[in-house]
Amino acid sequence: MKITKLYARQVLDSRGNPTVEVEAYFNNYLGRAIVPSGASTGKHEAIELRDGRKEYLGKSVMRAVNNVNKIIAREIKDVEFLNQRAIDDLLIKLDGTPNKSKLGANAILGVSMAVCRLAASVKHKQLYEYIGELSGNKNFRIPIPFANIINGGKHSGSSLKMQEFMIAPVKAKSFKDAARMVSETYHILKGLIKEKYGTLAINVGDEGGFAPPLKTPEEALELITEAIKKAGYKGKIKISMDPAASEFYDGNNYVLDKSYTREEMLNYYSYLLKKYDIYSIEDPFEQDDYEGFKRLSELAKNKLIIGDDLLVTNPERINYAIQHKLCNGLLLKVNQIGTVTEAIHAAKLAIDAKWKVMVSHRSGETEDTFIADLAVGIGCGHIKIGAPCRSDRVSKYNQLLRIEENKIKYGF
Ligand code: PEP
Ligand code: MG
Repeated sequence: MKITKLYARQVLDSRGNPTVEVEAYFNNYLGRAIVPSGASTGKHEAIELRDGRKEYLGKSVMRAVNNVNKIIAREIKDVEFLNQRAIDDLLIKLDGTPNKSKLGANAILGVSMAVCRLAASVKHKQLYEYIGELSGNKNFRIPIPFANIINGGKHSGSSLKMQEFMIAPVKAKSFKDAARMVSETYHILKGLIKEKYGTLAINVGDEGGFAPPLKTPEEALELITEAIKKAGYKGKIKISMDPAASEFYDGNNYVLDKSYTREEMLNYYSYLLKKYDIYSIEDPFEQDDYEGFKRLSELAKNKLIIGDDLLVTNPERINYAIQHKLCNGLLLKVNQIGTVTEAIHAAKLAIDAKWKVMVSHRSGETEDTFIADLAVGIGCGHIKIGAPCRSDRVSKYNQLLRIEENKIKYGF
């Protein structure tokens, strides 16, 4: 079966920046997808094509849109679309660069996801079921949501240098339960912030978390610990952090309230891990600080150390990290690598190495809920979807609530 029409347009993401939407048709069947976009992007990620012209302050994506409509649309008509690998191989071949910089990872991913949805629909399958088929997984699981309820770094205007402070309802009995626990704790935190910092402090950052005027990570961790306790979820909700350390690395040191060497950062993380109920830390060191990752992984053997900018969902970097024991978790972002097939392959490498996999949104999101189905389909048990606030984030919670109605198992 061949695609009868492929069409891309420019739409807006949650920050009001342009992004690529793709529609793939087979007769009356439609598969549609919208591409997300990061702010704290890793330097090894696949390239998102932006026009750099006057429109949208340089951020329009018409080159990527035209690459779909003029180049990919012509070539894709010869390929069997029920074969996702064949579609993705074609996209990789048409681009021909190692980082998808010719056609743009945003053009390529839009097509890859839209075709995946189209195939699921033609086969009368739920998207997660079809993704399960593609990845060889039958163990569908609703993931634990990791909810970023205090936003710092590049995602907010606050002075907090570390980017994300999340809650994870690891003891929830169902996703329905998890969503309630996250929502209640979020609203209790809002009250605490209002009491301590005033009403202006309850404005939110890019991922729907609060962005109060905090200076140190401890202040954020104290607030969240208090909110969890007050909500009655002590021991049931754990804390996760994504310092996104590449963003405060100056080439030599990590610059927080003062400059920290790698050694001092290691001591600092050890202290935080002892003091707070922390489940995971993502990107504790900058993207090429292999030594920092390795040392923290040795030091905190029972914690989840996740690579985001470190790994960029790239099989080569994941293999290197597995071999050198740099971390034990993969943050899976489809737009970092650019096709569904490559993202599934990345997840499998990590799962085979007995790592955890956490599917993740981007700070610039849309109403597209592809990642919710992806997490269920590959059965990875973890998803990072922001705070339960703003529809770009809430849409993922709602899709997981819908999928759970199909009586799929929840948890790890
Ligand atoms: C992250 O760093 O994990 C993240 C979601 O942020 P961004 O999308 O800005 O890279
Ligand atoms: Mg990150």
